[in-house]
Amino acid sequence: MVALSQDVIRSLASFKGGDDPVVSVYLDVDGRRFVRPRDYELHLEALLRRATDGANGHAPLEDLRRIESHVKGGLDRHRTRGVAMFSCAPGGLWSVVELPVAVRNQVVVNATPHIRQLEAVLDNNERFGVLLADRQRARMFVFELGELVDKSELFDVLPRHEDDRGDWDKDHVRDHTADAALHHLKRAAEVAFSVFQEQDFDHLIVGAPDDIANEVERLLHSYLRDRLAARINVPVNATDAAICEAALAVEAKVEREKEARLVQRLRDSVGSGNGGVAGLAPVLAAVVERRVDTLVVSDGYESPGWRCHTCGHIAAMGPSCPVCPSSTMHKVDDVVEEAVEEALGQSCRVEVVVGNADLDVLGRIGALLRF
Ligand SMILES: [Zn+2]
Repeated sequence: MVALSQDVIRSLASFKGGDDPVVSVYLDVDGRRFVRPRDYELHLEALLRRATDGANGHAPLEDLRRIESHVKGGLDRHRTRGVAMFSCAPGGLWSVVELPVAVRNQVVVNATPHIRQLEAVLDNNERFGVLLADRQRARMFVFELGELVDKSELFDVLPRHEDDRGDWDKDHVRDHTADAALHHLKRAAEVAFSVFQEQDFDHLIVGAPDDIANEVERLLHSYLRDRLAARINVPVNATDAAICEAALAVEAKVEREKEARLVQRLRDSVGSGNGGVAGLAPVLAAVVERRVDTLVVSDGYESPGWRCHTCGHIAAMGPSCPVCPSSTMHKVDDVVEEAVEEALGQSCRVEVVVGNADLDVLGRIGALLRF
């Protein structure tokens, strides 16, 4: 089992089984929906049957059996809600990626591993730090892929008020209390920075009453102020689950905003005819010409197309290959996947965009070009 990373995806994307097909299976094993293993095993059996039936007697049985026995051998679902498995026994490929987020059930038998769901999971997840503070406590959390990866606590005892003293003493106590509170928030900001140095998160969320939040944000190291994503309304003693939920909501919003800016850039460059293309056929042509800087794909967009086994050309229309006219291209179920794999192989950025109507209008796929 390996953890999800860009290296894992790129290495899968570059695998070629030659004449031997690769079986890719994504299985939702989320314990909140599937209490007993039998509940998701039934879905797996249906997926594997589909792969067998669709193969006209040429099903890669060894791969299908290996996937079935891996799942039925038992999964540790404490931290796993989705499993991605890639198998090509003759080519020596067997890779299992366990994910703390759910995936969509899917089986694909193709010349290469089907990596789009992995790419979407990775693309939609960044590291988030959450700093919660009140006048005495501060707690710092780091989340990645919806999971808590780090937690720190800080508790400073404030001096007590003694209300039966004279005016001078009251003022003195008030000043002393304010100093102590400031000192506490400074320490909270320091804790956040030391966690950042160890855990290197992308965004910081602050949860505190407004006056404290203003002060905390002012005291933060400038690296952290640059990463401020939002304030949330979560008390310092909230449960881990409640904090995670609030962080995920901010994360989704931040990701959608980032995507919207990217789609806007795409629209502008397509509109001006400078630096961008949109729609399946022009984007495939740009990928083939190795001109793509950033590939922008609507989540879940699939389209049949063609691939040349001789030169690797991909196209929306076939069957004759424009590069090597003597070759006939083969039909592929999802040429968008082929484009994503090719783009990753060329070290392009791939952005999987969720629910953006402007991208749908552009044809659900686009590319910002290098030249
Ligand atoms: Zn060709």
